[in-house]
Amino acid sequence: KPLTIFEFAKEIQKPTTEIIKYYFAQGMMLNQNTTLNEDQMGELALHFGFDFKKENVLTKENIFEQLQEVDKPEDLITRPPVVTIMGHVDHGKTTLLDSMRDSNVVSGEAGGITQAIGAYQVTSKSGKKITFIDTPGHEAFTEMRSRGANVTDIVILIVAADDGVMPQTEEAIDHAKHANVPIIVFVNKMDKPDANPERVKTELMQHGILAEEFGGDVPFIYGSAKQKQGLDDLQETILFIAELRDYKANPNKFASGIVLEAHLDKSKGPVASVLIQQGTLNIRDVVIAGPTYGTIKDMENENGRKLKTAVPSQPVVIIGLNEVPNAGDKFLVMNDATVARSIAEAQYEKHLAMERSNKQSFTLDSIKTHIDDGELKLVNLIIKADTQGSVEALKSSLAKLDINGVRINIIRASVGAISNSDITLAAAGQALVYGFNVRPSAVVHKKAEEDGVEIRLHNVIYKLIEELEAAAKGMLDPVF
Ligand code: GDP
Repeated sequence: KPLTIFEFAKEIQKPTTEIIKYYFAQGMMLNQNTTLNEDQMGELALHFGFDFKKENVLTKENIFEQLQEVDKPEDLITRPPVVTIMGHVDHGKTTLLDSMRDSNVVSGEAGGITQAIGAYQVTSKSGKKITFIDTPGHEAFTEMRSRGANVTDIVILIVAADDGVMPQTEEAIDHAKHANVPIIVFVNKMDKPDANPERVKTELMQHGILAEEFGGDVPFIYGSAKQKQGLDDLQETILFIAELRDYKANPNKFASGIVLEAHLDKSKGPVASVLIQQGTLNIRDVVIAGPTYGTIKDMENENGRKLKTAVPSQPVVIIGLNEVPNAGDKFLVMNDATVARSIAEAQYEKHLAMERSNKQSFTLDSIKTHIDDGELKLVNLIIKADTQGSVEALKSSLAKLDINGVRINIIRASVGAISNSDITLAAAGQALVYGFNVRPSAVVHKKAEEDGVEIRLHNVIYKLIEELEAAAKGMLDPVF
């Protein structure tokens, strides 16, 4: 049946502007309400590489899977843990990263110009290395994760002792819990006269972060990023967890990993910071990084020192790619320039389209299909409401919802408007977003559309429940 550009864009999960641009390039001025006929829809589907036989298409994801061989246990060696620091703005993330970096000037590199490459390594007192990811915010973390790039082994949750748990602290907790990685709490700004660590502990407990001294399993470190107090303690705690979890990688194969960030340098061309996750990267290696490729001409560490090789958990800057890749793109060594080039080129357009069409949107209507496919046992919800009272009422009503074998899992429930961060989390966690007496802004609405996240708005609790129940009944329709 004919669809408008707006509806069709939604169907193929492309921004409407892409379609309007496509026709504009052919001299046609259409708008989002223009109706497309079947031929036009077919043509657009082709143009965007939207292929209905997904399993036969070489996607960015399956290229990497197909090329990953299974490691023999004897090839695996211990690698440094990869750590991300998250917390509320001004609670001291940057100061903590800087302090740890300052107090760790590796001999021989003193005086080297440190560069912001999105990650760096420190060597602890005990001589072991830790890699810190220095991403600007939680969004980057979740965005990478929603693209299947799990870079972080451990999350440091930083909370200022004079301020306590704040909205972005809660967000960080949601992200870390959903990524299922161990959390270490760093209670910062203990040097301040109004520091109140007991309050921080209690507030975190109310958010399900239980300190070891309360019988939980989350280590709490008390210190000051500014006064460089507690840093050794923090590092030893990270290393203790790393030892328990036994993070390993195989250095004896072609390197693969994740692009942390990239930009275009006027004189050097595309410059990418990458985190090596497997294998050893050598200068002159031919790599594919997402839709880009190239021969590594130059490689440097975070202190600007030239490197010939890089090993697992090591962040490095590489020069030699043909274009600028995106943060979160996977990279892989493929020592055949022609193949690398043809894969990168041939897949470029397709990748972009596949990425969107592969990102399954999770909608109320699709719940039944997901269940029938046997892939859904939990319906993830994010709830935003106007008052704490509504949040609590919704939480308790939803907890009572009885859907045979399928549970409602609330991954975030809080007071406030629906935000971009809610959408990012929903996309990563395949969740529906419910607004109760709150609405998203136009910007948030657009992001939801692009990310394939469904937002449902309600102002009567029983209607919201009824709707979910109806979807649930759908799930339970007997199949004859
Ligand atoms: P971010 O937004 O989380 O990256 O926070 P910043 O690292 O930029 O820190 C915000 C402010 O808090 C800055 O003015 C820091 O100097 C200050 N700050 C950070 N850590 C401490 C600390 O341990 N003690 C005190 N007194 N101030 C700190």
